[in-house]
Amino acid sequence: MSVPWQTIETSPAATRLAVRGLAKAFGGVQAVHDVSFSVTAGHMLALIGPNGAGKSTCFNLVNGQLRPDRGSVHLDGIDVTGQRPRDIWRAGVGRTFQIPATFRSMRVRENLQVVLASRERRTLGLWRPLRERFRDEAMALLTQVGMQGQAERTCGVLAYGDVKRVELAMALAGRPTLLLMDEPTAGMAADERHALMALTRELATQHGLAVLFTEHSLDVVFAHADRIVVMARGRVIAEGTPEAIRDDVTVQAAYLGVPDTEAGVPA
Ligand code: ADP
Ligand code: MG
Repeated sequence: MSVPWQTIETSPAATRLAVRGLAKAFGGVQAVHDVSFSVTAGHMLALIGPNGAGKSTCFNLVNGQLRPDRGSVHLDGIDVTGQRPRDIWRAGVGRTFQIPATFRSMRVRENLQVVLASRERRTLGLWRPLRERFRDEAMALLTQVGMQGQAERTCGVLAYGDVKRVELAMALAGRPTLLLMDEPTAGMAADERHALMALTRELATQHGLAVLFTEHSLDVVFAHADRIVVMARGRVIAEGTPEAIRDDVTVQAAYLGVPDTEAGVPA
């Protein structure tokens, strides 16, 4: 099956995302303070930390929803700091979105075709008579996430885990080099969480895609991340491999000090 994808020709260890000295305050709250990290091609970086640590703010600084007060965001070596979300999307940053309610009555395949059409700067109105356009590409993307057998079903009838796979395919339709996933497995059962992250890992490896994700379940984080950045109160307090982070007392203290530990501290 041909893959609708053109990965940028770079060495496997290429830095996809480099964030340097990012800062963002909301009124008196310093949500993000001097945060730096990078993600290389084919790797998965987990951003973890207690509620309010600044994880989502970091994501929004990278995807253009927010402009940083200080610091920079480089994508594949290009400075994209402060650019608008649409331009950042075009520059290669994909993110998973919840499928909007209005899309739930459409077939799985059609949802993909809409995203593919929008990537080609076509409007929905223009797309309608071109029903067959992007059909093969949509099917190829669905095959990548194991949803080709459900292409003709409407999104509204899918199981929750399958909806998440479709959302992943929709994110991939923009041909990202960096994929942002903010709590992608929220609401999923444990085995579904692992399946989705294992699939993400496969796609990252195949396409040299860099993945930045947050995740509530530390179990999932330790099983699937290559590296982990730990934030607390807007700052990075630790960074390292899952093994190093697991043994880090500072990290344990950050979690133990906060009542929000649905997932608990891994043994
Ligand atoms: P996390 O995703 O790690 O839970 P957030 O980035 O959502 O943390 O939030 C970090 C801090 O910034 C919190 O104190 C939060 O209340 C505050 N914050 C986030 N977004 C806004 C906003 N749009 N306006 C005001 N305060 C915000
Ligand atoms: Mg958040």
